[in-house]
Amino acid sequence: MGKYTDSICRLCRREGEKLFLKGARCSTHRCAIDRRAYAPGQHGNARRVKQSNYGLQLREKQKVKRIYGLYEKQFRNYFKKAVHKDGVTGEILLQFLERRLDNVIYQLGYCTSRKQARQIVSHGFVYVNDQRVDISSFLVKENDEILIKLKKKGEKLIKDNIKAFEGRTAPEWLEANHSQYKGKIKKLPMREDIAFPVNEQLIVELYSR
Ligand code: SF4
Repeated sequence: MGKYTDSICRLCRREGEKLFLKGARCSTHRCAIDRRAYAPGQHGNARRVKQSNYGLQLREKQKVKRIYGLYEKQFRNYFKKAVHKDGVTGEILLQFLERRLDNVIYQLGYCTSRKQARQIVSHGFVYVNDQRVDISSFLVKENDEILIKLKKKGEKLIKDNIKAFEGRTAPEWLEANHSQYKGKIKKLPMREDIAFPVNEQLIVELYSR
């Protein structure tokens, strides 16, 4: 399981859409998708052939995996857990992904990307119900309370991020209190709370082959 070291923007170009992996840059004219909206590589700009069913399923899985910044094994483990829960597997899979602590910090507006949120968590700045949690994959529960405690330098970063977040709101299932660097899980996320377009059924079909 190797670490991905190539350009992050290539991942968006491969999926053919913005995955918002680089924070503030994603909303500027420097976004690679806006400038080169075709797949990377020598033949990326060639006429696209119609994708097979398998190809569509694979791309959908890769897209979601990349949005949340997960390795294949981690992603598959979420799927296995989702299969064993009552309910619609695809929706439960998305719910697991949304409940990750790094995603919550990002969605609350304290970080400009999930990658940055992972760093904040792993450096031990995040508390859940007054307990320090430094595991990004930690799954939040209903009524959990989040607090970010930062030193001087980090505080400036978070303040800048909050400023950049102005005009947007956290999803319905979360409540942000930016003045106190807090957040609350009002309820568990539902399918309609997932903001980006995804056909999770394709992922279920892929892993059920
Ligand atoms: Fe994707 Fe952001 Fe790079 Fe644009 S700037 S290609 S949205 S990571």
